Amino acid sequence: MDAVILVTGGAGFIGSHLCEYLLKKEFKVICADNLSTGSEKNIKHLKNNKNFKFLKKDVREDLGINEKIDYIFDLASRASPKDFRTYPIDILTTNGFGVYNLLRVAEKNNAKFLFSSTSEVYGDPKEHPQKETYWGNVNPVGIRSCYDEAKRFAEAMVMAFVRERNLDARIIRIFNTYGPRLNEYDGRVVSNFITQALKNEPITVYGNGTQTRSFCYVSDMVEGIYKAMMTGEKGDIYNLGNEEEYKILDIAKIIKNLTNSDSEIVFKDLPEDDPKIRKPDISKARKYLGWEPKVKLEEGLERTIEYFKKEI
Ligand code: NAD
Ligand code: UDP
Repeated sequence: MDAVILVTGGAGFIGSHLCEYLLKKEFKVICADNLSTGSEKNIKHLKNNKNFKFLKKDVREDLGINEKIDYIFDLASRASPKDFRTYPIDILTTNGFGVYNLLRVAEKNNAKFLFSSTSEVYGDPKEHPQKETYWGNVNPVGIRSCYDEAKRFAEAMVMAFVRERNLDARIIRIFNTYGPRLNEYDGRVVSNFITQALKNEPITVYGNGTQTRSFCYVSDMVEGIYKAMMTGEKGDIYNLGNEEEYKILDIAKIIKNLTNSDSEIVFKDLPEDDPKIRKPDISKARKYLGWEPKVKLEEGLERTIEYFKKEI
């Protein structure tokens, strides 16, 4: 295929799987990433592919791409709650100036655009499960606001380009996603628990572990992202995630069992504004994209554990 696709954040966890998926479909892929949380290791196996190009670039700056771009998948952004404390300005500017910059690149190229937003726009939700129509319950000045509000601002910017400039853009709201190439050190729950379990270190449950999340395996997510770009409507928003909801304490127990670990499960302070429940309503993606996740939690966790066994 001759179409050229720009994937920002393409050296990250989800982005590297997306690049791989697009190359298999024989698109030309330009991966732009500043490697703040991503790694060249994630895309090493793609570098010999003649259709793949890596640019170590920051989306807040001129990417210096001269060839015509047909699609932009914007995934560039730190995504781990651990980074919300340490890099709030980086997160806000990447989703502010960075997204503005990329929307202008899309406009100039007449390219189709997809912005990867997050379930965090729903904050600590008062509606359950969360539908795309829910406006959310976000603390605008809390510790997570640098991420939640940045993504909400970016969504508003995308919609402004759709309405004012007629850009063919859409938004996906990604719910917790896991799989190989999660960064061992980024502090998210699945990578933390697997690493701790494999090292027989204490598994750290924050709070009493009754808070819930729903976990989507990365191959399912990538397929949903692709369908949202290709089939999704201009100006539309799609939740992408798995509907199976688990208590975090149960995730700890499942991972401990799957790894045959001797780790004890310990309880630590619950971080501020940690959402108590989260589960997507994906009926819209099911109906309009013909998408739903296929990989069961235990199967996905087993594949992820195999990856971490080689990494740590
Ligand atoms: P990740 O940290 O592995 O990937 C993000 C990538 O963006 C990294 O490679 C990083 O180096 C790059 N990046 C960050 N700031 C940049 C900048 N200014 N310029 C260029 N590159 C930059 O995280 P991920 O989980 O793969 O997340 C990808 C996208 O999906 C993010 O936009 C995130 O907000 C969204 N998301 C992820 C999840 C999840 O559960 N993984 C949930 C909701 C939303
Ligand atoms: N969590 C936990 N122990 C950890 C890391 C996370 O109990 O070592 C909890 C966290 O408090 C949250 C859930 O697991 O309730 C998911 O956290 P994560 O950072 O993966 O993503 P979030 O969904 O909060 O953005």
